[in-house]
Amino acid sequence: MSKEKGILFDVTLCIGCGECYKACKEENKLPQSNKDYLKDHLSDKTFTVVEQYGNNYARKLCMHCNEPSCVSVCPVGAFTKSETGAVLYDSNKCIGCRYCMQACPHKIPRYEWETTQPRIRKCVLCYDRVKAGKLTACAEACPTEATLFGDMDKLIEIAKDRLKENKDKYFQEIYGLKEAGGGHVLILSNVPFEQLGYTSLIPQQPMPEFTKRAMEKIPPVVAVGGLFLTGMYWLTKRKNQIAKEENESLHRKYYHEN
Ligand code: SF4
Ligand code: SF4
Ligand code: SF4
Repeated sequence: MSKEKGILFDVTLCIGCGECYKACKEENKLPQSNKDYLKDHLSDKTFTVVEQYGNNYARKLCMHCNEPSCVSVCPVGAFTKSETGAVLYDSNKCIGCRYCMQACPHKIPRYEWETTQPRIRKCVLCYDRVKAGKLTACAEACPTEATLFGDMDKLIEIAKDRLKENKDKYFQEIYGLKEAGGGHVLILSNVPFEQLGYTSLIPQQPMPEFTKRAMEKIPPVVAVGGLFLTGMYWLTKRKNQIAKEENESLHRKYYHEN
């Protein structure tokens, strides 16, 4: 049996109750950062969110990529891909370069802008719980099984069966299976994924080779064509977004302290 674990999130089963969000906060000892969980954003204090789009609710969290860009760009090996499939982070190794934030195609890693010893923060697929044979906290808390945790091969099978047996109900794709080479979080939906704020235009190939080269400013030797251009688009957008977050955080800090 596969040891690789993951999450299957099914938008059509989600009632937006926020139990996954609350369980994640509790499990990771994170403070309540927004009274209305539906209005919260991913941050150094929030590793998963539930967002409302009309009658639909969509969870966002680290996709635990099969070939993670965050791992490949990190110059000191602070990110690692574990045997369960979870992508882990070691703050003792981190030098704060924030390459991982720029390289992630799903815009996941967040930085502790407001502490003296900042770390990168993100979902770790409840690594310790999973190693102890438990479900992730979010899957355990979900009352409708909209968030399912299990072996990756089983989750892929379930997702494919749902699509096959409910052609009118589901948008006929599994988000996360191929994006950026695929990962350990799969998503099913009744509408196209970009309508739920999931990042579209992600190449289906793994991105590490490209992102590493771009970060090191080494010209591409092999023909990567569209992948290179899409990647450049991503990186430029991410750099601007991160600069904006940093500015906003500095402003907040300044006005708070003055
Ligand atoms: S989604 Fe981003 S942070 Fe998560 S494993 Fe993939 S590249 Fe790394
Ligand atoms: S897997 Fe664990 S860390 Fe990740 S979102 Fe779920 S509860 Fe949070
Ligand atoms: S706990 Fe389950 S049903 Fe509730 S918001 Fe999270 S995924 Fe949706």
